[in-house]
Amino acid sequence: MNRVPYSSDFDLSGVATMEELREMALGCRRCALRDGCSGVVFGEGNPKALLMLIGEGPGADEDRLGRPFVGKAGQLLDKILEAAGLNRWEHTYTANVVKCRPPHNRVPRPEEAEACIPWLWRQIELVSPRIIVLLGSTALTNLVDPAASITRMRGQWLTSRSGIKIMPTYHPAALLRDPSKKRPVWEDFQKVRDEYLRLKGS
Ligand code: URA
Repeated sequence: MNRVPYSSDFDLSGVATMEELREMALGCRRCALRDGCSGVVFGEGNPKALLMLIGEGPGADEDRLGRPFVGKAGQLLDKILEAAGLNRWEHTYTANVVKCRPPHNRVPRPEEAEACIPWLWRQIELVSPRIIVLLGSTALTNLVDPAASITRMRGQWLTSRSGIKIMPTYHPAALLRDPSKKRPVWEDFQKVRDEYLRLKGS
């Protein structure tokens, strides 16, 4: 993972708990996205999960409800997890690259992702997952390599410098647009499930 050191003016390394981080993030005004959305969608799930899921940013349903992946893409994600024997609340912690909905669901701009991502890095540090699933290109390019291609890299394990296993796969919204992506995503989640069970047993 392409971990950027905290800039000296925005150091979250001293924030000790997820609740404290959440309280701070809810007041964030680091980019203009907050002006156009209802509120910050911080992330949720098991804060001690072995598995973290990272998406792009809130859509209309998430913005309305203040929770990640609750719309159609989220419902599909839940079904995929369930088929793999995983439950989002019990087995994962879920968050996004940007925590405020971009207008008309456009892809977050690099400066918006850059402004927001320190919250996500600290979430990753606090959860300390052993596996991260990157859902789609925005998560892959902002966390791993700006030049990375999801089509080329999905389905292959990457390992972060701190030993976290990272699985890039297509975003569930891409599956809704193109059902031919369902099979590869299912194969990717089977690998994730196998690794999860291996880690659980170790
Ligand atoms: N898409 C995302 O990337 N994240 C969400 O929370 C919902 C849809």
